[in-house]
Amino acid sequence: MKIKCPKCKEDAELAMDFSLVKCSSCDLEMSYGEYVKFVAHNESTYSDILGDYAVSTEGQSSGSLDEWD
Ligand SMILES: [Zn+2]
Repeated sequence: MKIKCPKCKEDAELAMDFSLVKCSSCDLEMSYGEYVKFVAHNESTYSDILGDYAVSTEGQSSGSLDEWD
């Protein structure tokens, strides 16, 4: 599914099983855990969103991360 790349702000891809975040625009590649920390570190307001997201969408195969913008 598509998420926003924390590095270049382009579309990055989050693996279905939340194992990996990959951005083809800037070659970013990190685990979802690292991604959450990275984003939370850079933009503190995101940490709440990510926290909600992790709980509310658990078990779903596709999310609504397009709404992030
Ligand atoms: Zn990127």
